[in-house]
Amino acid sequence: MTSTLDQLTGTVHRPGDPGYPAAVTGYNLAVVHAPALVVEAQTVDDVVTAVRYAAAEGLAVTVQNTGHGARHPVGPDTLLLRTGALDGVAVDPVGRTVTVGAGVTSGQVVAAAAPHGLALVAGAAPSVGVVGMATGGGMGPLARALGFAADRVRSFEVVTADGEQRHVAADSEPDLFFALRGGGGGVAVITALTADLVELPGFWGGAVFFPGAHAAAVLHAWRTWAPTLPTEVTTSIALLRLPDLPDLPPPLRGQFLVHLRIASTGSPDDGAALLAPMRAVAPVVVDTVGPRPYTEIGAVHLDPEQPAPTADSGCLLGGLPAAAVDALLAVAGPGVETPLLAVELRQLGGALAVRPEVPDAVSGRDAAFSLFAVGVLAPPVAAQVPAAVRAAVAALAPWRSGLQYGFAAGQDLTEAWTPSVLARLRRVTRDRDPDGLFRAAQQLPA
Ligand SMILES: Cc1cc2nc3c(=O)[nH]c(=O)nc-3n(C[C@H](O)[C@H](O)[C@H](O)COP(=O)(O)OP(=O)(O)OC[C@H]3O[C@@H](n4cnc5c(N)ncnc54)[C@H](O)[C@@H]3O)c2cc1C
Repeated sequence: MTSTLDQLTGTVHRPGDPGYPAAVTGYNLAVVHAPALVVEAQTVDDVVTAVRYAAAEGLAVTVQNTGHGARHPVGPDTLLLRTGALDGVAVDPVGRTVTVGAGVTSGQVVAAAAPHGLALVAGAAPSVGVVGMATGGGMGPLARALGFAADRVRSFEVVTADGEQRHVAADSEPDLFFALRGGGGGVAVITALTADLVELPGFWGGAVFFPGAHAAAVLHAWRTWAPTLPTEVTTSIALLRLPDLPDLPPPLRGQFLVHLRIASTGSPDDGAALLAPMRAVAPVVVDTVGPRPYTEIGAVHLDPEQPAPTADSGCLLGGLPAAAVDALLAVAGPGVETPLLAVELRQLGGALAVRPEVPDAVSGRDAAFSLFAVGVLAPPVAAQVPAAVRAAVAALAPWRSGLQYGFAAGQDLTEAWTPSVLARLRRVTRDRDPDGLFRAAQQLPA
């Protein structure tokens, strides 16, 4: 291993350098890293150089693209490897695949694939990294129709802890191929991946907002309505306490709302007929549901694109009986003082439950619903947010059925996988990174 960065074409930032503060910051402003140095890789060779340097210097390596998944600030024992400049996107319209560098966001791929009538199976927010999402699983607004993003990955290009570049596919590197799809990414640095695209020029969907005062009626109706939907339809619902910010439209700004999300690969007429009973449950504040190009997939969840300091967590649910909805209303419903920005329930099932031909490490495949709670760590409520997140998750403990890697911050991930999947993940990590060079956003449980 070499202990020089002389070969590097990218940029190095050390504490005190003018570029350091921006380089250690990502989407979640609550997680500001303090590494020994930051390497902004320009090329795959830069990744090799950085990994070899860290190994020789006794530093750990943490990878960050957008910082959407950052959980713990790293310290001076770590080299932070930024991948944003590995930004290649190559769509193959004939083979219906895309090859992306580790710095690419899902919105970039969605835009590049759209002219070919093709779509990336992606999450709710276009600003999330494609590679980071695949390492965690990736459940999006059309998840019940299209499944997990990780299930669509055909191959990875990686740099392993020995500083070597490797092509990882089902036949060449079956263990790494298993672990990198859903296992958290802490076993190698991914420099690129190739994934299948789906033929989907458009979808039907959007958001329906109801006044928060009607939360009990809307949530109870949603709980019985969602399980009647065909798997071409994906829905979720959130109790939102929106800030009084000028970039929010007046009917939503500063309001307590129920945000029903729906997206379907089926026909608009079928979708409208299915949604009709929910539209009638309470007065509607804003309704944006209709036919859309796939490039508007971000309009379903309307996740904030601007960086903010946040704390979040969640869990999976085996079912959602009336008592579970009542428990949620008791911590986040009308009349409750809570600093939480959003408490969200997603209906799972459908394609999410279908195991891929080549097994992967994706967690949360068999749950019926997921819970996610998030708050902004801003004054005057910042100090109360972590406890409120924990309280929301604890409120649904009687119905808890496990964890999904991407929605389980701060929790013991033993629950995320079956014992055999976790044992294989641990074995692959031990074999391929025996000295524990790589540190994922969330480490495997010891
Ligand atoms: C607003 C918002 C909306 C979200 N919506 C969804 C959603 O709808 N569905 C869903 O499933 N998830 C969702 N997520 C979670 C998101 O998918 C994960 O946090 C994901 O890991 C973010 O990837 P990133 O590259 O953007 O973030 P980063 O913070 O840059 O990366 C997160 C982690 O991924 C790993 N990683 C990233 N790049 C590499 C690499 N090149 N090699 C190895 N490991 C790597 C590292 O462990 C890294 O710490 C959302 C998150 C936010 C903040």
